[in-house]
Amino acid sequence: VDEFGLIARYFAAGFPARRDVRLGVGDDAALCLPPPGMELAIAIDTLVAGVHFPLSTAPADIGYKALAVNLSDLAAMAAEPAWFTLALTCPQADPAWLAEFSHGLRQAAELGGVALIGGDTTRGPLSVTVQITGFAPPGQALRRNGARPGDGIYVTGTLGDAGLALRGVLAGTPVAPELLQRLNRPTPRIQEALALRGIATSAIDISDGLLADLGHILEASGVGANVRLAQIPLSPVMREAGAWELALSAGDDYELCFTAPDHAALPANCTRIGVIDAAAGLRCFTASGGLWQPETAGYQHF
Ligand code: ADP
Ligand code: MG
Repeated sequence: VDEFGLIARYFAAGFPARRDVRLGVGDDAALCLPPPGMELAIAIDTLVAGVHFPLSTAPADIGYKALAVNLSDLAAMAAEPAWFTLALTCPQADPAWLAEFSHGLRQAAELGGVALIGGDTTRGPLSVTVQITGFAPPGQALRRNGARPGDGIYVTGTLGDAGLALRGVLAGTPVAPELLQRLNRPTPRIQEALALRGIATSAIDISDGLLADLGHILEASGVGANVRLAQIPLSPVMREAGAWELALSAGDDYELCFTAPDHAALPANCTRIGVIDAAAGLRCFTASGGLWQPETAGYQHF
């Protein structure tokens, strides 16, 4: 397979078609027509083999995740995803690998209703970059800087599952399939995010762990937070494993963390974990009300 045959076979067709794509894969650039008056939200993420996913990861999971993490970035902005480009660097043109990769990528594309409009293909150590574009009505994208004292702090879904799965994979111990799904097939919270337009005051997606990512909201908003550890939503597997600290520090969950005033009508699947405070800093309280200090050095500045 040469470069063009490869593109034609695995990336030119079979992805969601959209009327706002005037010219997709095949020319020197794609041509797209944004809806009049909308702001464009643009994000990009690279996954490097052995750094952002274990070398043992299935090609379909790599394809899925490369796009899913970008859909998650747009969800964190409450932007509606539309188009993406793909820069793929791989050691060789292995048809079986490419077919599986493209299948996983397509599954994520269908989930987000996004069209693959172009890309670049090169030979080298495995690395996947996806750039995504979406829309938001002017002023309605959710930023990190809008949290105000008194706002509740919420997360979607459950936290720590992906971290627990990764720990198992890296240790070479068996990992339950539903847990592996959380690591390899994260669900971008697109619907929840769109429902939070005009309601949430700030938002971020949890890619680096709750404390780190909530910390970004606090910094951008110039506020602090009091978090109730007992209220952090954990899956049954996480409870059983007693690994609740992973829910604070492990990345890869791709759940949303957002703030909203009390009594706001929120989507299902959201849990209140604390409150925004005027006093700077991130304080975590145990069920008995004691202040909890993280042991890991990385969190000292909280
Ligand atoms: P150029 O040399 O003009 O940069 P390329 O040969 O890199 O063009 O790509 C040819 C066409 O195929 C372009 O439309 C480009 O967007 C598309 N393309 C290349 N690689 C990919 C890919 N991995 N996925 C989707 N489209 C791709
Ligand atoms: Mg090129």
